[in-house]
Amino acid sequence: MDYQCIGCGATIQTTNPNEPGYLPNSALQKGLEKGEFYCQRCFKLRHYNEIQDLDISDDVFLTKLSQISNDRGLIINVVDLFDVEGSMIQGLNRLIGEQPFVVYANKFDLLPKVTKKNRVRHWIEHTFYQNGLRPSDVLLGSATKKTPAKELIDLIEAHIQTKNIYIVGVTNVGKSTLINQLIHYYGGEREIITTSNVPGTTLDLIHIPLNEKYGIIDTPGIIHRHQIAHYLTREEMKQVLPTKPLKPKTFQLNQGQTIFINGLARVDFVKGDPSSFTFYVSNGAYLHRTKLEKADEFYQNHLGELLSPPNLEHKDSFPPLISQSITLHPNQDIAISGLGWFTVNKKVQITLWTPKGVSFAIRESII
Ligand code: GDP
Repeated sequence: MDYQCIGCGATIQTTNPNEPGYLPNSALQKGLEKGEFYCQRCFKLRHYNEIQDLDISDDVFLTKLSQISNDRGLIINVVDLFDVEGSMIQGLNRLIGEQPFVVYANKFDLLPKVTKKNRVRHWIEHTFYQNGLRPSDVLLGSATKKTPAKELIDLIEAHIQTKNIYIVGVTNVGKSTLINQLIHYYGGEREIITTSNVPGTTLDLIHIPLNEKYGIIDTPGIIHRHQIAHYLTREEMKQVLPTKPLKPKTFQLNQGQTIFINGLARVDFVKGDPSSFTFYVSNGAYLHRTKLEKADEFYQNHLGELLSPPNLEHKDSFPPLISQSITLHPNQDIAISGLGWFTVNKKVQITLWTPKGVSFAIRESII
């Protein structure tokens, strides 16, 4: 008989510690007595805040997601408002066929207080259109709030008598947190889904029944390796992933000046009239201004110390910063996947340095 881990949904197995659902034989017995199982990975995560890495290819995740297209459910695609470009699922159309889907844009609490909801909705819609996707609605919310967004509950109520609701998304968008929020709302007693800072913790389909026939189904998170979170340790993530509303930081810069965002990215102002550069990054992120001509040397000398994360032990294995020349216009943002974005008030020529493997996007300003 198969047992499921109540943390991540993986099928419990006692043979391979590197694969999902592993539980040592000794612990299996305890589980049988209790009638519930946490795999070793979820157990360690919950009790010791420890993460075990698993080797799971993106293909496996994608195959699992394709099960959805066999059921005529409602699909809710969760994206992270702090990293919309980085949380788009490429090939979503192919995976879910012609089924209608709704976007739930999470972490609204992180956007500056002045943010206009309609503008955000338009931006998300536009980003999806550009990727050939037409969501039937865009909802905004925060999974970390006690109660789910009213719009989301209304949507679920409108469909749950006739179909399942699938929650899909790439890792780190807050999908597990959202599922927990919904479980609480619908009267669950305890948190049964693993949530964490570490991408890729939800491994299998988990069914949360809301009535006799239908329920909410949590799907595996798709790993996007171009998110900055994939290159940071747990400790480093805490330092650069925001938890509070962003407070923009503005610098008046002249050409020939450079701004470092911790040791994770760098913006060189190469050419243009004096301009203000406004950064929307975690309030805990460290922005350092220096002269462009000294920036290389400064980076060499201070990486892992003043410019950290990456911290000292990790700086040698951290990917090198790769440069690209960009002309940036005043109505545009540059968003670095998972780190935040910045904008300027004049047309400027810049060199942007980002860790090799981490993506960035140029988009219309959202604020
Ligand atoms: P998953 O990989 O998509 O399941 O993401 P998790 O649920 O593990 O969440 C990833 C990180 O985002 C965790 O640090 C969460 O605390 C955080 N998070 C999730 N939802 C929200 C939200 O609404 N607001 C904020 N500020 N953080 C959130």
